[in-house]
Amino acid sequence: MQNKVWQWTGPNEVTSGVAERKDPGSGEAEIRILSIGVCGTDLHIMSGHAGFGTPPLPLGHELAGVVERIGAGVAGWQPGDRVCIDPLIGCGTCRECLAGNKHRCAKSGEIGLHFPGGWQEYLTVPAANLYRLPDSVGFAEATQAETLHCCLGGIDKLNIRLGTHAAVIGDGPTGLYYVQLLKAAGASHISLYGMRDSRLDLGRRLGADVTVNLRSPDAAAAAIASETQDIAIDAAGNEASLKLGIELLKRSGQLLLFGLPGQPILADIQAVVLKELTLSGSTNAPQVWPRVLEMMASGSVRVEPLLTQRYPFEELDQAIAFARSEPDEAVKVIVGQA
Ligand SMILES: [Zn+2]
Ligand SMILES: [Zn+2]
Repeated sequence: MQNKVWQWTGPNEVTSGVAERKDPGSGEAEIRILSIGVCGTDLHIMSGHAGFGTPPLPLGHELAGVVERIGAGVAGWQPGDRVCIDPLIGCGTCRECLAGNKHRCAKSGEIGLHFPGGWQEYLTVPAANLYRLPDSVGFAEATQAETLHCCLGGIDKLNIRLGTHAAVIGDGPTGLYYVQLLKAAGASHISLYGMRDSRLDLGRRLGADVTVNLRSPDAAAAAIASETQDIAIDAAGNEASLKLGIELLKRSGQLLLFGLPGQPILADIQAVVLKELTLSGSTNAPQVWPRVLEMMASGSVRVEPLLTQRYPFEELDQAIAFARSEPDEAVKVIVGQA
């Protein structure tokens, strides 16, 4: 049985081909991939600077589809079930895995980053990595459960009280999700800092009370001078965003470090000490997936406004090219069906 596949084959290069379909083994399920989110991480890996993944490799870690076949010993799943996929795979036997923290497993890796991902018609994955989609959540939306679960894991690390003031730095998809999650968590005043007016407008529609375009230095300076935030979330991950996060916080504020700097960066630790700030890093959060799907189903987080472009699977190369060449326009590019 044949499987249509797109692979990352070299610096910024994708190539289509066919491969044999893999029969699901014990504990595995074969998923017909129906929707794929294009992530900044995909572009980063394809540039060759991510430090992991070796071409040729099908990428794709934001995935939704239907169960096609199940392997031996798989209970609770039937062909046709609508699912999204947690791409993270741990060893399953170490202390962290057994405690439900497979993202902290020394041997863990991700489908689409370290292992073959979902840029294919059919993908075989451990059945334990599947989550059932609520009827009201479409496949394109469901790809975003992966991104959202990382964001919700970050929110869980913060002490958010009703009436809190919070700042989000970064107007990419994660920044826009954080605005919504902070709102849902009871923050009463949310400021969004970014570089692109169109995305800041979207941030206001999704719940930001104030937006600041950092390309206008006067606006940024005024915002720092006039605001004292309880919480700042760095969803950009660079030296300037970290500096801004530290400046925006009031004494004893909490800084969530979420965006991933590509290299070591400098930080004003003196300010961190003197202001008695709490810094937390955050990556994946395996235990929050069911709550992400609850939030999507209930409408307390909205994904649809972020899905800006759609391409059929046959044009995955064009979707990638668009995401790379039009970062202002492409908030979240989806490959496959709605
Ligand atoms: Zn991603
Ligand atoms: Zn482990």
